[in-house]
Amino acid sequence: MKNQPFFQLDKNAVEKLAANYDTPLLVLSLQQIERNYCFLTENLPGVKFYYAMKSNPDIHILQKMATLGASFDVASDGEINTLAELGVEGERMIYANPIKTAAGLAACNRAGVARMTFDNKSEIEKMAKACPGATVLLRFRIDNSSAHVDLNKKFGAARSEAIELLLAAQQAGLDAAGICFHVGSQVMYAEPYLNALDLAREIFEEAKMQGLKLSILDIGGGFPIPEPKVKFNLKEILGQVRARLEEDFAGVEILAEPGRFICGTAVNLITRVIGVSERNGQVWYFLDDGLYGSFSGVLFDQWDYKLLSFKESTETEIEATFAGPSCDSLDVMFRGKLTVPLALDDLLLVPACGAYSSASATVFNGFSKTKIIVWEEACKLLALEDVLARAV
Ligand SMILES: *Cc1c(COP(=O)(O)O)cnc(C)c1O
Repeated sequence: MKNQPFFQLDKNAVEKLAANYDTPLLVLSLQQIERNYCFLTENLPGVKFYYAMKSNPDIHILQKMATLGASFDVASDGEINTLAELGVEGERMIYANPIKTAAGLAACNRAGVARMTFDNKSEIEKMAKACPGATVLLRFRIDNSSAHVDLNKKFGAARSEAIELLLAAQQAGLDAAGICFHVGSQVMYAEPYLNALDLAREIFEEAKMQGLKLSILDIGGGFPIPEPKVKFNLKEILGQVRARLEEDFAGVEILAEPGRFICGTAVNLITRVIGVSERNGQVWYFLDDGLYGSFSGVLFDQWDYKLLSFKESTETEIEATFAGPSCDSLDVMFRGKLTVPLALDDLLLVPACGAYSSASATVFNGFSKTKIIVWEEACKLLALEDVLARAV
């Protein structure tokens, strides 16, 4: 079985959108957001999904996910307040940052967020004092060097401390109801999930022997999006995870926190060549979006974006450097990237750039954050219905 198709604009749509909205431009498909969410709910039935909004907090995505009935993984007072303003109830949020701020805990009280995660003793005191009786999940560390971004280097209690920390939370008057893990981001194998579920099973059993009945398991995020030259079958991975959950965690409330998978494939960037130069024999193309903007994921997410040109060129591809529009020398996205020769004003399409890209963009050097439009709305406005996004 193939991985699902995803949103990719064709030449006609790119040209029309660039002409009408100017560049740089981020184009978001809410239909793709829905497809991605439904893919997860169909393949992991019974699991409650908390969208990790740090991956893309665009208001349209949040509204769409809220309408679809999703819940949210939040990490700060700002994220909690944003959702509260949209009318999302606190019961639909989990404060999944193991290190919480006083402002974040206060926001929990205001918004009615009762679920949170922790991985150390000092956090127990903080939670018990600020949010007495809160439902807390112990985040345990797993070993996954295959993850694209391994969050276990920063978070997660050692397996050997798990029970002690859960019991301490209970003694502090908190509802020590479960455990959680995060295998890391863009995980293309079932093994890291299955290994983590083995550990989780052990912790559930050991807790029971200590008189603590756990009822919640949060399997985190990490679900992968398609990448050039990488083959994996997400349906099959989720099938294995699902089988294991049914076998070992019957009757347990299961949560998951997808970020990248929900938003990654739902956004395309249209950017333009605004400068061409040659340095030490290599061609440099300067684009109107850069490392401080929508390409921030090159740095923060170590992501290698696809750059598509619609130019019909008979010339052979060349290796070029792609830089952003700012005056900083760090503002270089790619070196030695293969491309057809480009010229001033040429348009480039960057598909699948919805996760950890605009979310971490800055306004450095006076460049505004790139405008985001909703594809389905633009279609209506521009009578683009004929220009259906190509599904690849
Ligand atoms: C970032 C994060 C996620 C989302 O991870 P993805 O790889 O984008 O799915 C989920 N849970 C926690 C706790 C996170 O920090």
